[in-house]
Amino acid sequence: MTVLVISGGTVVRPGRDLLRADIAVRDGRIVGVGADLRRPFPDARIIDASGMYVVPGLIDTHVHLGGSAGLARSPEEFTSEQFELNLLSYLRFGVTAVLDMGGMLHLVRHWRELARLGELRSPRLFAVGPAFTAPGGHPVSTIFRDFPEEAVEMLARQVDDPVAAREEAAKLAEAGVDAIKIIYDDGEGRFPKLRREVLRAIVEEAHRHGLKAFVHIGSVGDALDALEAGADCLEHMVTEGDPGAVKRLMDAVAAAGTLYTPTLSVYGAMAELADERDLPWEGAERAASPALLRGLSDPVARKAFRERRKFFNGKLRNALENTRIAIEAGVRIAAGTDAGNPAVFHGYSLHRELELLVMAGLSPGGALAAATAGAAAKLGREELGAIAPGAAADLLVVPGNPLEDLAALGRPRWVILDGVAYAAGELWESTGGEDVS
Ligand SMILES: [Zn+2]
Repeated sequence: MTVLVISGGTVVRPGRDLLRADIAVRDGRIVGVGADLRRPFPDARIIDASGMYVVPGLIDTHVHLGGSAGLARSPEEFTSEQFELNLLSYLRFGVTAVLDMGGMLHLVRHWRELARLGELRSPRLFAVGPAFTAPGGHPVSTIFRDFPEEAVEMLARQVDDPVAAREEAAKLAEAGVDAIKIIYDDGEGRFPKLRREVLRAIVEEAHRHGLKAFVHIGSVGDALDALEAGADCLEHMVTEGDPGAVKRLMDAVAAAGTLYTPTLSVYGAMAELADERDLPWEGAERAASPALLRGLSDPVARKAFRERRKFFNGKLRNALENTRIAIEAGVRIAAGTDAGNPAVFHGYSLHRELELLVMAGLSPGGALAAATAGAAAKLGREELGAIAPGAAADLLVVPGNPLEDLAALGRPRWVILDGVAYAAGELWESTGGEDVS
């Protein structure tokens, strides 16, 4: 087995002091962190990280691989080439693991197999499979409104009583999902919501199968119900402008040790789409194809957003403020973006998320922890978010100190996934990687 030594870099471990150390990797695992590891491994392949920083690979715990990040106006947004480019985009931006938050189970399996065969460049893929919702609930009656029935069946489980809900959850566990997703949100009365006892039954059944339950919520009331039902993570920040109620919620979330994924990127993207400027998102040309960006700039499409500009700006403002309350209450954040939604670009948007988390009050180190240790805790895969002997060899070599400038994370020079090192140039040229394990 060839050993890879990442030599001469500064190791960044969130919450701990910077460490000048080499990292030795063998067989997809970190086998050593310490001084001068070239010596015990004289035949190792060396990556010279002098003057650079080494961080764990980033994790996005809320993505929709079936979404294009466009406005779903052209079939080109959904070709297999585009899907492959979306997956590659994660690696380009240093994201080495993602959790798909709805449907796509068959495609995820297919992509995992292609990646295993070395035919596809993809981050580690985790998936919840179809999401639980009430009959006619979100997203069945909203996003999936015009979808054929088979597609809806693939994407959602509409359940109305605890017994049927448990059966469906057990079937998904059997089918090998990595977690269970539950939508508990009535869109301020616009669509039906799961009954509380159904929500509780699904969470319980998930736990009985050793799976975590992640609950999409729409309001403070939903969040309190989800918390009481035993949710492992709340998805999407509440957007009420009621600091007292939000404070009580976040104190309860912190006390329960429940994780929170605010998905600030999706509120940010909506506000940007509503903006008067044509291409407000800086750096988007690295993140998306010209056709996709043209689609997002289409004046007719943008008009619908611009007409609700005040609404979207208000949502973003409240989401940021409520995230600040969560952070101050000591709620642990697991980073997730809602990538695949309009202008929430695959890979790239995780860096927007980290910026927004810092705007909401996290330190850069706290934001990095949210996308590494916090995200790994949500997946129940702590070995993915750490740099220590025994941890997975998912690592980034970045050109600057992310604790001083988070932007360095968005430009990794090396991306190491499961012990396989990709130079940035290879990822951006789409040529072959080099297996060093
Ligand atoms: Zn989502």
